[in-house]
Order: sequence, then structure tokens, then C-alpha cells
Amino acid sequence: MIADRSIEVVVFSKSSQVGATEIINNIIGYYVAQDPSPILVLQPTLEMARTWSKDRLAPMLRASPALADKVKEPRSKDSENTVLHKKFPGGNLSVVGANSASSLASRPVRILLCDEVDRYPSSAGSEGDSIQLAIKRTQTFWNRKILMASTPTIDGVSRIQAAWETSDKRYYLVPCPHCNEKQRLEWKHLHWDEGKPESAYYACQHCGGVIEEKHKIKMLEDGEWQATEETNKVAGFHISELYSPWSTWESMVATFLEVKKHPEQLKTFINTALGEVWLGDQAEKIESHELLSRRENYDSSLIPNDVLVVTAGCDVQKDRIEVQVIGYALESQSYVIEYATLWGETAYKDVWDSLDEFLKSQYKKEDGSMIKIACTCIDSGYQTQSVYDFCLGKIGRRIFAIKGVSTAGNLIAGRATRVGKQRVPLIPVGTDTAKEVIFSWLQVDEPSPGFIHFPSDVDEEYFEQLTSEKRMVTFSKGHKKLVFKKIRDRNEALDTFVYSLAAFHVLQPNLEKIANMKQQTTEEKTKKQKTSGLQKQIRRNSFVNSWK
Ligand SMILES: [Zn+2]
Repeated sequence: MIADRSIEVVVFSKSSQVGATEIINNIIGYYVAQDPSPILVLQPTLEMARTWSKDRLAPMLRASPALADKVKEPRSKDSENTVLHKKFPGGNLSVVGANSASSLASRPVRILLCDEVDRYPSSAGSEGDSIQLAIKRTQTFWNRKILMASTPTIDGVSRIQAAWETSDKRYYLVPCPHCNEKQRLEWKHLHWDEGKPESAYYACQHCGGVIEEKHKIKMLEDGEWQATEETNKVAGFHISELYSPWSTWESMVATFLEVKKHPEQLKTFINTALGEVWLGDQAEKIESHELLSRRENYDSSLIPNDVLVVTAGCDVQKDRIEVQVIGYALESQSYVIEYATLWGETAYKDVWDSLDEFLKSQYKKEDGSMIKIACTCIDSGYQTQSVYDFCLGKIGRRIFAIKGVSTAGNLIAGRATRVGKQRVPLIPVGTDTAKEVIFSWLQVDEPSPGFIHFPSDVDEEYFEQLTSEKRMVTFSKGHKKLVFKKIRDRNEALDTFVYSLAAFHVLQPNLEKIANMKQQTTEEKTKKQKTSGLQKQIRRNSFVNSWK
């Protein structure tokens, strides 16, 4: 379709592991060698654009004799070529990041290749949507070609989903090795014995016959694309990892069984393995009174043994600092340990001294051992300088100033930058990403992966605040965007949960290792007790013997 004049736009909605990067490489190779044109490759960010150019594009240009003569290496002396811009006879190739609008507003483009469009920022600065800007560049060409490729993200905001909807929706149909009926491979037809990924097989939706991994390659060879809607210049292709010759059904099931333990990872599986949008839980509102009934019989004076790591999140207001302390356990389970309000004007030192003391807290576990707050994140959005002053020199105690970044797709805890005269580390926190995780956890309503445990002493106000925001789809500069909107004024319980989770992500502890170590020390203790008992017995015996 890329060389078919009747098609203008090609949409590729895909999973990972299906060779999308190679497809883009092949398109570039074709246009450089056979039909020289101005080409623009759009990657989500400038950094990704550079990496892609160096690691994916350059090796192909070097290795292919048909291309090596035409595109000179950036290193050679007479070369005008750089990592982001390359010339070749009759055309040129630019690589840009969707996050830098200025680089989009220049030269005309005939071949526009947009990779991973669902990871683009929702608008490039103030100038509007990056894809729209790039498409404008192609308007002067009657024979332009636009490719949009991506693994999809969330239903309603996914760009690739929106593009797919305008396409003729082609699926790859493969014949059953038993009845020869052609069909689209779908996750729901994959079967396995409980807990045994190695038993995975595909059940033909026509004859029910067992299709095994070994049949896959032949089926792929005999397959064909079939459109499900009428073609109108937009060809859409959808494919999932179920088809991938570089993956197996067994490994997909193994991944699925693993992510099932972490509800926040299920979204990634649905997007990247199945190549489908996450329908998610937008419509569901979490009711605070339902959470209230979930309080358990523990509080900060004695906390459950399952807690392996403890972190704190702080929110600074004019007359108080609110702190939430949360413990993390295996399988993404967490325990709210304490919610405290430290009163005092935050422009003055007193309340900061109280915070300093508070963060030295140690909590007693049911087995008698003590656990400290391992890491703390403090929002610097208000009383910025006081927060910096407080965090200065506390890196050893892992107390960090953070700054919320609310655009989608950010890491929960990004890489720290140094700010101010004192060069205090400041950590960017992807608040929307963190809220996504917390919301997915709040949906889990019985002790199982992702479950949040609440202590006996948090009140109704706490739960009201925790559920004080709702996910909504909004329109911004012609593009849909998912945002968290406050439905109540006060939301510190949610914010401090976000900051505590950020602190957990700063640490990135290996909880399984910690749990194993804990188990070993307990075993050693009991062993020691046993051996010392045994030694006593031996001694007593020998005493008895000698007495005899
Ligand atoms: Zn069949």
C-alpha cells in the first residue's frame, strides 16, 4: 500500500514484536533508492528520534549497497549529513521529535512516517497538534504518503485508534491446519491448563481443532489481509503478537499470568501484546463509602508483617504539612500506615522541625522488628524555597523535593535535575501516571494483587479525598486528552499517596529479594534456636553420662 497510488494514508495498529521498525526502514529504503522524495520521520521525542536514527536507520543505510552510495555517513568529511538530517540524490530525510514544534514548521514533505503516534505529547508547545502540523507539510504533494504506526493506548484518546476508525480495517486471516477455514487470531481462542503456559494452544473457531505453535509459520505464509470496510484512500492494518514469528503463544501466556498479578501492568499487556486499546475503568467511579468499609484491624502502632518497604509523601499547604506513610508488600499490595497533619505556618521553621522529627519515625511490625521510612517525596509546588531548604543535605536520608508533571506518559519518578543556588535535586513526578496506577489499585476489592489495605484509624474525609478526582476525556487543540479532574476541593490524601508512590519508584526496591532475605533470616533464627536447644541437650546428656 506504501507504493500504491490509490492509497494516501496507511494506518498500522499493532502490538510489539511484529517488526514495525523494519517496515519503516523498508519504506525509507524504497523511497531513497527508487522514488527519491523529501521524507519526514516523526518520533515521539527528540531523544527517541536521535536514538532511532543512530541505532535503527544508520545500520541499514550502511549495510545496503543500494543506499550506502546515496546517503553519506555523518562522519565522512564532505558529508552535509547529520543524525537528524540526511541528503541523497533527489531528496532528503529529516528526523524530528513530536515534542519540538519548531522543527515541524519548515520544509515540504512528501513521505511522512509517524512512528508510535500514541506516545506523542498532546500538543507541540502552543502551536497545535504535532501530527496536524506535519500533515500540513505534505499538502503541496498530490502523491503524498502518510504512515501512522503505533501500539494503541487508552480507548477514546488513542490517536492510532482514531486513525484506524477512518480506515478500511484490514485483519490478517490465516487458514486452520485442520479445516482450512481462514480466521483472525484472537486472544480469546488461546487456551492453556491453569498455571501452565507450556500447555498453550489455539482452538480453531470453526472446527475447534487444536492449533499448535509449530503450525504458525505455515499459517502465516498462507494468510492474507482482508479489509472489513470499504477502502477510501486510507488502508488500515491491525496485527497482534499472536501472529509474531519472534514470539510464542507460550511466552504470551507466561507474560499474561505474570501481569495478572499487577493490575496496573495489564493495560501494558493489552496495548503492547494484543495491540488493542485499553477500555479500562474510566466509567467507574470509586465510591468512598465502599472504601470506608474496607478498613482493617491495624494502625501505625503495630503494622502487618507483609510490609517490606515504607515510604512517605508530603504536601505543603500555607498552614500545615500533610504526610501519608505507605508500606509496600509483594504483588503490588500496599498498606496505608499513617496519615498525619502537622500544623504550623510553613513560612516559618517550626513545622519543618516537626516534619524532620516525623520522618525519623520507626514502625513496629507484628513480628517485633522495626521498619523506617526509606524514602520521602515532598511536593515543591508551594513554598518552593522552604521545601528546597528542607531537602538540602538530606539525600542520605532519601528525602527529595519533587515537581508534578501532569502530561500523560511520564514516568512516576523521572530523572532528577539540580535546582537553585544550592543545587538541590528535584525529581519530576508523572502525577497522571501515578494516579492511573492508584485508580487501578482502588478497583481491586479483595486481598489480591493490587489491593490497598487501610488502617482502622483513617476517617471518611480521608476516603473522600482519595476519591476526589475523576478521569475525563477533554479536547485540547484538536486532540483528545485524558485528564484527572477534581470533583472535590480537598485532595491531599490522593496527592500524598501519589508522592509516596513516587518515593517508592525513586527507590525501586526489589521486594521479592527483600521478602526472601526476610524469610532466610527468620529461618536462620529458628535454626539457631533449634541448634542451641540441641547443644544444650547434648551438653546435658554428656553431663548425665559423666555423672553416670
Ligand atoms: Zn479448523
